[in-house]
Amino acid sequence: MYTALRLQRKLKTELRAGTAEITVVAPDPYMTYQPFLPEAAAGNISPRHVVVPLRRVLDKCRIVIGEADRIDHAHRTATVTTLASPEDGTGAIRLTYDELVIAPGSISRTLPVPGLADYAIGFKTVEEAIGLRNHVIEQMDIASSTRDPAVRDAALTFVVVGGGYAGVEALAELEDMARYTARYYHNIRPEDLKWILVEASDRILPEVGEEMGRYAIRELRSRNIDVRLETRLDSCENRIAVLSDGARFPTRTVVWTAGVKPAPLLAATDLPLNERGRIECTAQLRVAGTDHAWAGGDAAAVPDLTSREKGKECAPNAQHAVRQAKVLAENVAAAVRGGEPVEYRHSYAGSVASLGLHKGVAHVYGRKLKGYPAWFMHRAYHLSRVPTFNRKARVLAEWTLAGLFKREIVSLGSLEHPRAEFEIAAGGGPPGKGPAPQDT
Ligand SMILES: Cc1cc2nc3c(=O)[nH]c(=O)nc-3n(C[C@H](O)[C@H](O)[C@H](O)COP(=O)(O)OP(=O)(O)OC[C@H]3O[C@@H](n4cnc5c(N)ncnc54)[C@H](O)[C@@H]3O)c2cc1C
Repeated sequence: MYTALRLQRKLKTELRAGTAEITVVAPDPYMTYQPFLPEAAAGNISPRHVVVPLRRVLDKCRIVIGEADRIDHAHRTATVTTLASPEDGTGAIRLTYDELVIAPGSISRTLPVPGLADYAIGFKTVEEAIGLRNHVIEQMDIASSTRDPAVRDAALTFVVVGGGYAGVEALAELEDMARYTARYYHNIRPEDLKWILVEASDRILPEVGEEMGRYAIRELRSRNIDVRLETRLDSCENRIAVLSDGARFPTRTVVWTAGVKPAPLLAATDLPLNERGRIECTAQLRVAGTDHAWAGGDAAAVPDLTSREKGKECAPNAQHAVRQAKVLAENVAAAVRGGEPVEYRHSYAGSVASLGLHKGVAHVYGRKLKGYPAWFMHRAYHLSRVPTFNRKARVLAEWTLAGLFKREIVSLGSLEHPRAEFEIAAGGGPPGKGPAPQDT
């Protein structure tokens, strides 16, 4: 989206004259600002404001909602399955192009852990973030209404696997939200909630450095969160999380954020991939050994020109992705106009992470911050980065209102099954009877 946005400004004359056309292929009609997902899960930002509508922002581009299944760069053709493909029975469409920008990002990297595919959930999309929020509150409702201690215990146990941004921020925000929500339940105390963070290495949040990572662990543990380092999830079959240190936790919630891998589309192209499956690129963001193909973001292996380490690639994060998008637009425009492409060079500025409302950790340009100042910096930084003035204003308004009123504690899990009520009304029959009711 950032590349197309800049490109439509750069190629204004050509677009007006009809000598250029920009086509954006995306499975959803919106772009997700992923760093805001934990705040959306906590209910601090509404889901609509975490996403940016492509049609509004890219008003000079042609938007095709669909998934690119194959790219045959030798013939400059992309095969795309659109939303209408199954409906009209004509199959995928074929798009031809002069210049290709490929940036499909990454997907969750899973391991063959028994039960993972059946019971776990990821944390990469707005649907997952909101689904998880609803799920956590629903578990509290289950725990509050059951008389079976085993059901209650499993409902109030939440396991998060992976101590990177996504895992730590998701856990910290959800725990914070659940702790607050507990005050509205007559029979759930905050101490009854069991949150477990499972991390295979000996540290968390490597992006903020060792010292701040240690601080984050202390902060989480002070909130009674069980942080287990050098530990792996061995199984979550039958809703029991079994860890490599021998611990077993019956649970109905396993969140998997243990790393990412490049999007599957990359394997269906004739573009060169490195050993980790990322597209090999030059510092100009050109796909290595090709003409007219460009790549950026998590999917691209771009040499980090600012690193002293030989052969180092830019890390897969938003900081690089948004800056690379800018260079991609410059270089594609230069290619169209016969100009010279420039190199991508950005030295990592450090990172900020939220650990819940008013809590955070940051290591930016050598400066280390923790607690409220870090949290404030986290918000200020991401507000400055989220695209469009419209979204910035809405997010700011929501934060301001949230500061004036009490937090939202509602779970709208039924939104995920909008026809359930009508199906019963239309003769689907009442829900199953179950055992006879008991006195409480
Ligand atoms: C919860 C969370 C928190 C994060 N926090 C931070 C943070 O604080 N700071 C930071 O720097 N980074 C953060 N990141 C990482 C950051 O969001 C990513 O590095 C960044 O989004 C990568 O950008 P991208 O454009 O490469 O990919 P994406 O943003 O993933 O975009 C790729 C797009 O391509 C689409 N796509 C995929 N396959 C196809 C296909 N076949 N056809 C068409 N379209 C396709 C996808 O649907 C998606 O819309 C976070 C990530 C998560 C999940």
